[in-house]
Amino acid sequence: MSAIDRVFAAQRLHKWDVKNSTAAERKAKLIRLRDAVLANADAIKRALHVDLRKPEAEAAGEIGSVENDINDTLEHLDAWMAPVEVATAPMFGGAKARIVYEARGVCLVFGPWNFPFQLLFEPLVPVIAAGNTAILKPNELAPETSRISAEIIHQVFDEREVAVFEGGVELANELLALPVDHVFFTGSPKVGRIVMGAAARHLASVTLELGGKCPVILDDSTDLAAAAATIAAARCYNSGQVCLCPDVAWVPAARRDALVAALQEAVGAALYRDGKLDKGSFGRMVDRRNFDRVKGYLDDAIARGATVAFGGATESDDLTIHPTVLIDVPPDARIMHEEVFGPILTVMTFGNPAEVCRAVQGGGKPLAMYVYSNDPGFVDTILRNTSSGGVTVNGWAMHWFEPQLPFGGVNESGIGRYHGIHGFREVSHERSVFVQS
Ligand code: NAD
Repeated sequence: MSAIDRVFAAQRLHKWDVKNSTAAERKAKLIRLRDAVLANADAIKRALHVDLRKPEAEAAGEIGSVENDINDTLEHLDAWMAPVEVATAPMFGGAKARIVYEARGVCLVFGPWNFPFQLLFEPLVPVIAAGNTAILKPNELAPETSRISAEIIHQVFDEREVAVFEGGVELANELLALPVDHVFFTGSPKVGRIVMGAAARHLASVTLELGGKCPVILDDSTDLAAAAATIAAARCYNSGQVCLCPDVAWVPAARRDALVAALQEAVGAALYRDGKLDKGSFGRMVDRRNFDRVKGYLDDAIARGATVAFGGATESDDLTIHPTVLIDVPPDARIMHEEVFGPILTVMTFGNPAEVCRAVQGGGKPLAMYVYSNDPGFVDTILRNTSSGGVTVNGWAMHWFEPQLPFGGVNESGIGRYHGIHGFREVSHERSVFVQS
């Protein structure tokens, strides 16, 4: 029997005990996990630096996010687990009815490489909180983080409750062949389709946290300097390898050059020292394939007539792509159709709100959208005429950070949601219980 089959068989037997665990027992597991994460914080930061040249503050952010999620869950788990009584219809006399949140069972969790620690462990928190068992696969493109993540799992958990297997696509497919109860996948829409197809064979439920091209829209009322500071910081975070990064900025034609100047100033102040890119504050592309992919978008856009407003340099030896803004990009350029996942922002112009809404509608339903405007009517028009997983108005990614909001995509940017109670419910089965009087 292979190790995968052994672990799966053990979890399938043990899941009934885990489903019956009390809030106190689940919290004890989460506390053990939190303590192990904090005890290994330096090793995690070192691994993230080796894998992605993550600056210290960004690496600390991955660890802090997991810690916050655990603390929030510890505070609220009793309330989340409580059955919800519902009033029955008068014709049922004195019958009682309630919704019970019960574990789904064995959950398969796949992490992406861009936040290889945080986005492996954040889904694990609700999976444990809801009384499930888990089989994790860290991402193979971040091998040092995969190794330390696996070490932490081995330190904290019995493999009947949480197990981990390290590897790539072949392993992914072996795990996807298991008749698990739920798959929680974070990654690309392309692989998301493969995961959903595999889950369909066993009718496992899925959470797909995917990506897309996130637009940012500005108008005549936008404070350009303030907006440019957060847009530039977002586009450069983790070298632009963030599912929530703005990919394309839409601005009224008359304000384009002012926006580009404000972006250049913001990037210069944050990331350049004496005219040189400060690589201590700026990550690299995860691997050569992704470096070549993003450089390919840049070369293709330029070949088709786009102008580099600033940046544009690439350093193949250490997989660095300098923060770049492109203007005059023709609609057929590849960068207009693919998720960039690198530090290149395209700035496009529009004449009126209807025009920008049509352009954004044409890009489907991205994971996130940003509107920077001091005109509530403009914001309302954009929200009513577009769709996305979530939106932040006058800021970046705040809808991810607010734990009361459900986080997830819509259609091609994802299925399902998590964070706070939304994550607990996502990996629970809402079971209806009706007790006849
Ligand atoms: P990916 O889809 O390439 O890989 C994710 C996982 O799928 C890995 O474990 C990999 O081993 C496995 N995999 C890859 N090819 C496979 C195949 N053919 N069959 C089966 N399994 C396969 O994603 P990635 O490159 O790690 O991450 C980048 C993507 O993830 C971007 O699109 C980004 O927007 C998205 N993302 C989304 C979120 C979110 O919260 N929604 C967060 C981070 C990243």
